[in-house]
Amino acid sequence: MQSKNDPKVTTRLPLPQPLPMHQSPRCGTKTRPGQPCRAPAMPNGRCRMHGGKSTGAPTGNQNARKHGLYTRQAIAERRQLQALIKGARELVEEC
Ligand SMILES: [Zn+2]
Repeated sequence: MQSKNDPKVTTRLPLPQPLPMHQSPRCGTKTRPGQPCRAPAMPNGRCRMHGGKSTGAPTGNQNARKHGLYTRQAIAERRQLQALIKGARELVEEC
């Protein structure tokens, strides 16, 4: 047990008035010990450790590779080519 005379124990004197930084809104997230987080909140209402810095993952599939293989134009082009090949094959078989 530590006593009051132990040099390691520091006692905090209450401030006569809370500083402006003490009056800023707090994060309030439930922490692992169960108490609300007391860190100052960022504009979105959470502290830097509980989602204040990030707005989350990017929306949608922004990094998808767009190859154009399934555009209407590409599908129509393939169909035309297949018809042409089929016609050529039939022509060759007739001969
Ligand atoms: Zn927090």
